[in-house]
Amino acid sequence: MSKAGVLLGLLYNHPTPVSLNAARNNTSTPITIPITLFANNSFLYTFAMIDSGASISFIHKDLTLQHQFSTACQPLSISLADGTVHNSNFATRLVLQSTPTHFETHSFQLISLGNYPVILGMDWLQKHNPCLDWITGTATLPCTSKHSYGSLLPLALATMPHTIPPFLLEPPTPAPLPNVSINKSTPKTSPKP
Ligand SMILES: [Zn+2]
Repeated sequence: MSKAGVLLGLLYNHPTPVSLNAARNNTSTPITIPITLFANNSFLYTFAMIDSGASISFIHKDLTLQHQFSTACQPLSISLADGTVHNSNFATRLVLQSTPTHFETHSFQLISLGNYPVILGMDWLQKHNPCLDWITGTATLPCTSKHSYGSLLPLALATMPHTIPPFLLEPPTPAPLPNVSINKSTPKTSPKP
C-alpha cells in the first residue's frame, strides 16, 4: 500500500511495542480537537482524540487510503489495553494544523482499529504540553509561537496548498471509515454547513 511520494523527513524511532489504550467501544468522552491535515497540495478537515495512554500518534489506515497519503514501511508492534498486540507496518508524516496558528509536521503510525481518524499520543503531548480542560473538553497550546506557519520547513510547505484554508473549530463530521463506525457522540460537531 506504500505510495510513492514525498515524506517529510525521518519517521520516529520508538522502542517497541508502543502502547495504545483507546478502546474500540469506549463509552467515555475523551478530549477531541479539530485538526487540519495537509498532503498532496490538499487538505482534510477532521478531528483527533488526545490519548495519554498512547505512546505515539496514530492515523486510521482507511483514512490514509481514502486520501492517498504517502506511507513508508515502518513495522511496529502495538500493545493494546486488553493485552493483545496489533501489528502495523506503515507510517505517514503529514503537516498537522491544530489551532488557527499552530502548525507542525508529525508522524503517525497506521492502524486498522478504533473509532478515531487520528489519535495524538504522548509524543505529541510531550512536544507541545497543551493545557487540557477536562470540564470543557478543550485543549490550549501555549507553544503556538514556536510552531507557527512560518516555522514549517520548505519541504513541508511544498506539500500544502498555496492558500491555507480557514481553520474550522467544528470540522464537518468525516465520512465513516469503511471498517469502523465513527463514535457519533464525539466530537461535539455540527453537521456540515
Ligand atoms: Zn506546539
